Amino acid sequence: MLSIYNTLTKQKEEFKPINPPNVNMYVCGPTVYDYFHIGNARSFIMADIIRRYLEYKNYKVKYVMNLTDVDDKIIKKSIQENKEAKSVAEDFVKAFFEDINKLKIKPADIYPKATEHMNDITKLIEELEDKGFAYNVDGNVFYDVSKFKDYGKLSGKKIDDLESGARIEINEEKKNPLDFSLWKKAKPGEPFWSSRWGNGRPGWHIECSAMSCKHLGETFDIHAGGNDLIFPHHENEIAQSEAANGKKFVNYWIHFGFLNINDEKMSKSLGNFFTARDIVKKYSPEAVRLSFAQTNYAGPLNFSEELLSSAEKGLEKLRNLADKTNEELKNKSKDGIFPEFDFARYEKNFEAAMDDDFNTPQASAVIFDFAREVNKAAAENASLHFEFYQSVKSFLGKTAEEVLGILDLSDQSQLSGNSIENELIELLIKLRAEAKIEKNFKLSDKIRDSLKEIGIILQDSKDRTTFKKNKP
Ligand SMILES: [Zn+2]
Repeated sequence: MLSIYNTLTKQKEEFKPINPPNVNMYVCGPTVYDYFHIGNARSFIMADIIRRYLEYKNYKVKYVMNLTDVDDKIIKKSIQENKEAKSVAEDFVKAFFEDINKLKIKPADIYPKATEHMNDITKLIEELEDKGFAYNVDGNVFYDVSKFKDYGKLSGKKIDDLESGARIEINEEKKNPLDFSLWKKAKPGEPFWSSRWGNGRPGWHIECSAMSCKHLGETFDIHAGGNDLIFPHHENEIAQSEAANGKKFVNYWIHFGFLNINDEKMSKSLGNFFTARDIVKKYSPEAVRLSFAQTNYAGPLNFSEELLSSAEKGLEKLRNLADKTNEELKNKSKDGIFPEFDFARYEKNFEAAMDDDFNTPQASAVIFDFAREVNKAAAENASLHFEFYQSVKSFLGKTAEEVLGILDLSDQSQLSGNSIENELIELLIKLRAEAKIEKNFKLSDKIRDSLKEIGIILQDSKDRTTFKKNKP
């Protein structure tokens, strides 16, 4: 039984999808005005692991992540860089896809863009206005928070307390300081769309309400995002969607904790700001994923170079085991024994951890335990039957590779589809062997070192040379 901590009810609940085996899941995506930072990467990766685990449990997940491609921040950047807002958004949409691909995040089924859903968005605002939840002040439309009696139910904030707080932006057009923009009147030079209130563009919150409803229905299973989105973004999404549809918006709300850098809040002014792009230049995507998985998704995570280095070191053990397993599977040795080994127990433990509100620290510990025990069995026996290694590969494939995304089990010696590339490497290996026979060691070393420079590692064994590609 899978249980999930639900921010809305503040307790762990058994997960019951509306229409099993289908699960509809929405995750707030980026505003595309810059490269996303490592804190965003944490949310995207943990949401990806949750989605992968639901798929492991044979749910059919429809995964939607929005792209906010019209926003104040995009407009600001476009003015700074003297570009069109549209081209700023396009550049960073492209960068976003490059980065999630590097981080091995499985693509969503749909990436709706705000600019491509203007009709859905304006229709929803019209509905809110017609039902008395929104008011128009000279082309600016606001949500009237006082009309929605459940306002604050997600964040646990009370309207009265919020109003006395000084952190809310004062705007003379609003009836109540908590009211928020649904439609913003166009200012000169800004991108705009037409509407019954005149030319303008939507507020951020309404985009998620309109696009999630369009692609996942009025009520759907899971909505996830960073902790910082609980208030006001997700609170406002609930207010908009439930007021318009008269139905519960989302059954399970999942929120990811903050990420600090060396115990300090990450910020550009402190000079400890990292984009995901910076980090994957130095560390493998698997190490980034493992360092996140080793902390509970909801708690704070203290990010540091040591954390990544130690994840990288831990992964080396899994990678060595994967290489050995691939090697043994090629040899297909039937001579060895199949030792007593409780594969089912490891699988059960992995599932028990993940079923408990996606306890990824515990789940990764099970995988490392497993690797240790396999290595012990290999050390204790002269040789093991290849079917034993088939089971090893199957366990690692299902857990470390498919769910956590921290291991690549493809045979590194035969990597990546490009066969001409592989044939050329084999040709160089042959030439190097000939050079060795002719005792031309200067040439044979040069071939080995030059290949290494471009990330291809030759491994000599008794009777042959294989190669391995370091991942880009
Ligand atoms: Zn959102």
